[in-house]
Amino acid sequence: MTLSESQLSQLKETIYQLALEENFQDMRVSDINTSGYFEKFKSWLNNGYHGEMSFLERNQELRQHPDSLQAGTCRVLSFRYNYLPTNAQFSAPLKNPDMANISRYALGRDYHKLIRKKLSNIVRQAANQLNLEQFIEARVLVDSAPVLETAFAEKSGLGWKGKHSLIINESGGSWFFLGEIFINQPIQVDAPVEDKCGSCTACISLCPTDAIIDGKTVDARRCISYLTIENKGPIPEDIRTSLGNRVYGCDDCQLACPWNRYSSVSEDKDFYPRHGLESSELKDLWLWDENMFLSNFEGSPVRRIGYQNWLRNLAVAIGNTGNPDYIELLEKKLPDANAMVTEHILWAIKTLGEKHALNNTRSKLLSKTKKLINCVVNMHPRDA
Ligand code: SF4
Ligand code: SF4
Repeated sequence: MTLSESQLSQLKETIYQLALEENFQDMRVSDINTSGYFEKFKSWLNNGYHGEMSFLERNQELRQHPDSLQAGTCRVLSFRYNYLPTNAQFSAPLKNPDMANISRYALGRDYHKLIRKKLSNIVRQAANQLNLEQFIEARVLVDSAPVLETAFAEKSGLGWKGKHSLIINESGGSWFFLGEIFINQPIQVDAPVEDKCGSCTACISLCPTDAIIDGKTVDARRCISYLTIENKGPIPEDIRTSLGNRVYGCDDCQLACPWNRYSSVSEDKDFYPRHGLESSELKDLWLWDENMFLSNFEGSPVRRIGYQNWLRNLAVAIGNTGNPDYIELLEKKLPDANAMVTEHILWAIKTLGEKHALNNTRSKLLSKTKKLINCVVNMHPRDA
């Protein structure tokens, strides 16, 4: 049964208030029409920008039509939840090549379960408070099904899609998670907001791997977030140097974005950094064995990439330090490494070795030049 107008507006207001109580910053509503958004997504796939994420090629019908995913759905409620930890250092790890730079969203607990639980509570409590349990059918989604989540966030006015392809909120920046509730009641929809990127291109010019192409499109095959997280295979050799010390994800486009001047920090302690991850040295992380990796990343999103890919990412970052003192440390992990990681370790050793040789040649050249200058000075003391 469809609820009356007043019941629908009561339902919307109750869900909104409960969301605020659960520490969400906003909730907005859209219909389920994906027209325009779905075609853009298909063209992104057809261009191969999704790399090896073949799961994105599947379930197109469900992605295009939310009511095929959850029968009866006619509205999508989109929520935003800030995650920026108060004590995350903004630039220290990026400036210091010996430190590991981990994407800020991954410094604390994995958000999926946490946000899903909050959203489930919200819809259950709202139905209960309004005595509407038998009329409401809902499904909570947090990255857990084929959903065009940024499309719904954009349609509902939760924010606009920035040129870096993330949703930006005028008062909250972009450091937030998204979550959705599919619902069977025609709650009043909200209007989209104006795109306020304007002529800014900061994210495009500061992206270390030139992964952002025109039309708010990111080529995942060049994006460090994809290469260090979703990618199961080797990191392309021509991009390795550009990764710098980014060992899990990349925040550069968000750091570049002027709208993040207005972002607020999260009050949720679950997203505060654990194990000093916001200021870890590469060499310390490199020394973790698999058991330490699994226990230190218990409940963290980093755990899902697995130990071998973690080593792969660290090997590249260590190779990028330019410090040949790390060669011995790199060699220590060769017995634990699979074939793919071994290749990355050997690349790092070679890179550091070449740097070392170059430094030696430079210092030999420098000392030869100094000797030559001394010689000339001694020959012509009055000209010196
Ligand atoms: S996450 Fe990093 S690599 Fe990916 S688009 Fe943003 S700046 Fe570029
Ligand atoms: S950096 Fe500039 S262009 Fe990029 S998303 Fe932010 S406002 Fe838009």
